[in-house]
Amino acid sequence: MTEGNFRVIIVGAGPVGLYVAHAMERANIDYVVLEQHSTALNPSGQLLFTWPQTVRLLHQLGLHQDAKEVAIPIHYKKRVYGHDGSITSTNQFWDYVEPSHGYPFLPMLRSDLIKIFYTNLKGRDTNIITSAEVVDIETDSEGVRVQLANGRIVEGSVVIGADGVHSKSRKLMHKLAGQGPPEEMISSFHGIFGWADISDLSIEREVFFESRGAGAVIQCLGTPKKLRFVTLKPLPETFTGRKRYTRQEMEEYAASVGDIAVCPGVKFKDVWERAEKDKAQMLNQEEGFMSRWHYDRLVLVGDAVHKSTSVNGLGMTCGLHSAAVLASLLQGLVKATSQKPTTDEIDDVFSRYQKKRQREVKPVWEGGYSMVREVTQDSLWSWMWDRYILPWFDVEGLVKGLIPSLFLIRHGDILSYVPFVGEQGSIPWLRRPIS
Ligand SMILES: Cc1cc2nc3c(=O)[nH]c(=O)nc-3n(C[C@H](O)[C@H](O)[C@H](O)COP(=O)(O)OP(=O)(O)OC[C@H]3O[C@@H](n4cnc5c(N)ncnc54)[C@H](O)[C@@H]3O)c2cc1C
Repeated sequence: MTEGNFRVIIVGAGPVGLYVAHAMERANIDYVVLEQHSTALNPSGQLLFTWPQTVRLLHQLGLHQDAKEVAIPIHYKKRVYGHDGSITSTNQFWDYVEPSHGYPFLPMLRSDLIKIFYTNLKGRDTNIITSAEVVDIETDSEGVRVQLANGRIVEGSVVIGADGVHSKSRKLMHKLAGQGPPEEMISSFHGIFGWADISDLSIEREVFFESRGAGAVIQCLGTPKKLRFVTLKPLPETFTGRKRYTRQEMEEYAASVGDIAVCPGVKFKDVWERAEKDKAQMLNQEEGFMSRWHYDRLVLVGDAVHKSTSVNGLGMTCGLHSAAVLASLLQGLVKATSQKPTTDEIDDVFSRYQKKRQREVKPVWEGGYSMVREVTQDSLWSWMWDRYILPWFDVEGLVKGLIPSLFLIRHGDILSYVPFVGEQGSIPWLRRPIS
C-alpha cells in the first residue's frame, strides 16, 4: 500500500508511543503518530516512578537533564500498618541505586514526561496527528491502511499499537487474525489517584509511604506543599472493559478507605479533605499479559500488551523497554533490507521481539500480580509479615538494594543503534549500544 520508504504508524501518543517516535527518528525511519485526543500534551496524569534503567533510556535520547529538572525528590520508603499508622519498615532503596547504576530514581508526573518527549521530538509538528482516533486497520503484502474516525486513511508499512490498556489496535489485530474475541484485560482492583494540599499537615516530605494491611494499599509521596497519592482496593467482583466512575462513587470509595492511616497520625480522610477533587481520578486498574503480541504487519507495545496495577511502579518502565527492543530489531531489519522488508521478515522480527520481552516482562508482571494481592489483605498474617518478617527480608533494603539491582535494573534494555556511553555505577549494565 505504501510506495517508497518504510513507514511506521504509531497508534497512541502516550509515553510508549512517543518513545517509539524518538526511536524511529534516531533510526532514520519515517513515522507518524496518531493520537485520538486533540492534543498530545495531556495535562492530567499520575506520578510515575522512573526507574534508573529507564532514566538511562532517556539519557540515550538526550533527555536526562530535562527529566532531572521535573523530578520530585525522594529518599526513604516507609511501610505503614494501615490500621494504626505505625511504621513497620524503612529503607533507603531510592538512594542506593544511583551509586550502583549511575542513575537515580526520578519520580515525575506523566504530563511532565509526555512534555519532555513531545517538545524534544524533531517531527512533533509534522509527524504527530491529533484528533486521530484509529477505528480500523487493513493489511496487504505491501503495507497497512489505517482508518480514522474522521474518515481519513493513513498508509504505512507497519502499525505499532501503543494505544494503552483498552487498545483498539489489539482488538483489530485479533479481528485480522480471525481468532475469535480478543483476550481481555481484567480489573480486580480500583482506586483513586490525585494530589492534596498538605501544607498544614505534619507529613514527612520526600518520603514514600506505603500503607498496607488494612484491606487497601495507599501510596503517597510528599513534596513541600502537595501530597501525591494513589489508592488500590479489591473490587467486589472482577470487571472487563472500561468503567467510568461518577464523583459520587469516588466520594463513597474515599469514605470506605477514610479511616486507613496513610502515615503516622494522618488518615486518608485527612488527605481527601484537602484533595483537589476536580483533578482526582477514580479508575479500575486492569491486569493482563497477552499471549498474542503481533499478527501480520501489526505489533503491540506497552500497556496494550502487558499491563499491571501501579503497585510496583513498573508499567511504564516495562513498556519503554519493550519499545526499545522492538525499535532495535526493526532498525536492523529496515537497514538490512534497504527499507523493503517482506511481511515474512517483519513477522520474524516481531516474533523475536515478543519472545524476548515475554521472557523479561513476565516475572515482573507476576511480581506485581502477587504484590497487589498481598498488600491489600486485612489479616493477622499480613500484619505479622510486615511487622516481624519483612524488616529482616526486605528485598529493597537488603545489601543496599542488591537484589533488584541484580535481577532487574542492570538488565535494562537500550536502543542498540544509537551511540551512547552513559553513566555507570558499581554494577555494570548488561546491555550496551554501539559506542
Ligand atoms: C495511578 C497510576 C500510577 C502509575 N505509576 C507508575 C509508576 O510509578 N511507574 C511506571 O513505570 N508506571 C506507572 N503506571 C503505569 C503507566 O502509567 C503506564 O504503564 C503507561 O502510561 C503506559 O503507557 P502507554 O503509552 O503504553 O499507554 P497510555 O499511557 O495509556 O497511552 C495510550 C495513548 O493512546 C491513545 N489512544 C488510545 N486509543 C486510541 C485510538 N483508538 N486511536 C488513537 N489514539 C489512541 C490514548 O489517548 C493515549 O494517549 C501508573 C499507572 C497509574 C494508573
